[in-house]
Amino acid sequence: MTPSHIAGNPAKLTAQQRELIEIAATLGREKFASRAAQIDRDAVFPFENYADMRDAGLLKICVPQAYGGLGADFPTYVMVAAEIGRHCGATALTWNMHVCSAMWAGFIADALDMTPEQRADHERCRAVHFKRVVEEGKVYAQPFSEGGSAAAGKAPWGTLAKKVDGGYLVTGRKIFASLSGAADYYGVLCTLDKPGAGMRDSMYLAVPADAEGVSVSGPWDPLGMRGTVSRNLEFKDVFVADDARMMPEGLYFQAASRFPHMFATLSPTYMGLAQAAYDFTVQYLRGEMPGTPPVKRRMYPTKQVATAEMRIKLEQTRALFLQNARDAQVDPDRDTRMRLYAAHYTIMENANDIARLAIRTCGGQSMLKSLHLERIYRDSRCGSLMLPWTAELCVDRLGRECLYEPGERDEAIDA
Ligand SMILES: Cc1cc2nc3c(=O)[nH]c(=O)nc-3n(C[C@H](O)[C@H](O)[C@H](O)COP(=O)(O)OP(=O)(O)OC[C@H]3O[C@@H](n4cnc5c(N)ncnc54)[C@H](O)[C@@H]3O)c2cc1C
Repeated sequence: MTPSHIAGNPAKLTAQQRELIEIAATLGREKFASRAAQIDRDAVFPFENYADMRDAGLLKICVPQAYGGLGADFPTYVMVAAEIGRHCGATALTWNMHVCSAMWAGFIADALDMTPEQRADHERCRAVHFKRVVEEGKVYAQPFSEGGSAAAGKAPWGTLAKKVDGGYLVTGRKIFASLSGAADYYGVLCTLDKPGAGMRDSMYLAVPADAEGVSVSGPWDPLGMRGTVSRNLEFKDVFVADDARMMPEGLYFQAASRFPHMFATLSPTYMGLAQAAYDFTVQYLRGEMPGTPPVKRRMYPTKQVATAEMRIKLEQTRALFLQNARDAQVDPDRDTRMRLYAAHYTIMENANDIARLAIRTCGGQSMLKSLHLERIYRDSRCGSLMLPWTAELCVDRLGRECLYEPGERDEAIDA
């Protein structure tokens, strides 16, 4: 049985979208899927997959065409990411961190307000970063989590950038830094070190992995997404030049406030995992799973009901995923913003729920380590833990925005 297209109906796609999704599907099926078990078992970074993605042009997917990239827009990126996630979650998730660097400095920055001087400075700086990706195949990571409230968007970054002659000195510590030890540059979110600095003084700086004062520490032995190798990063008075800026000073705050879809790029990986759990179930119940006896289980009504339930959840997930892809723009209206939280929450939670149903339905043999369903189950559990929009924070934001107009407050309630 031919597995579904990740976008549902490919006839609605542009030529570029069809072509890039096909490239991702071929790489995923022929290369990534067979490497995924070892990457997961050994918790090692998927270097070979990155070499393949580099050769296929996927590392420069969101670099604007004017800078030699493929110039993919938001919908194109998320569909390609979902297709990669279908075959190897860790590759898709880390690739997201890399692609976001170009996306944030690229079409997201283009949609924001800057003075002419800032715009000219940004063009100069981003040319440096885009050239590294396009011409040298360099990889960027995106460490922002620090273990406190900053990554949730509730406090300034604890990592500081002190202005010095010709650049900045970066000092701080990041946790869960996917691609640690594998990326060439860490796109660090930090606060400009000045009296009274707050969240508006956020900076986004590319720190070379081999700069003096950068170190990677701690183990990485998690439940799932083991190939992301998300260890700790320490920065001790690391000097970076002025052109390390991936956005002008202060622009990250504007981006986070006005282009919230910039944080919705983690969920495509989990859309792919949801599809993979469903694909597994169909193949397994039809007795067509390689490495297992050709025993059919599809004739039992219980299996049919469960598969239908999974398909319904999958289509609900895909519908929100695609709507979200179409919705991405600067200054979305209130309804769009609320739909975004609902979509992100649904994709993250449904991915794990579909994987749970897949194991229950396929039965005991399906959770053996020799098959990939148990990895999908573990990987899919990690999605709704990821800041800034954990499942809890999506519900928290959504609940408030459903019931309050901006600025509305309640009067104190007498006890
Ligand atoms: C596989 C994987 C890969 C990851 N890769 C990266 C990466 O590349 N880069 C990166 O930066 N991070 C990455 N992360 C980290 C992730 O985004 C989170 O930062 C991390 O999971 C938070 O863990 P925690 O236990 O500190 O969070 P929590 O304790 O859940 O939350 C951290 C803080 O956020 C605030 N917070 C949490 N929930 C609420 C709430 N409901 N209301 C108000 N405030 C709240 C609190 O202040 C809390 O202290 C990755 C995580 C995983 C699982």
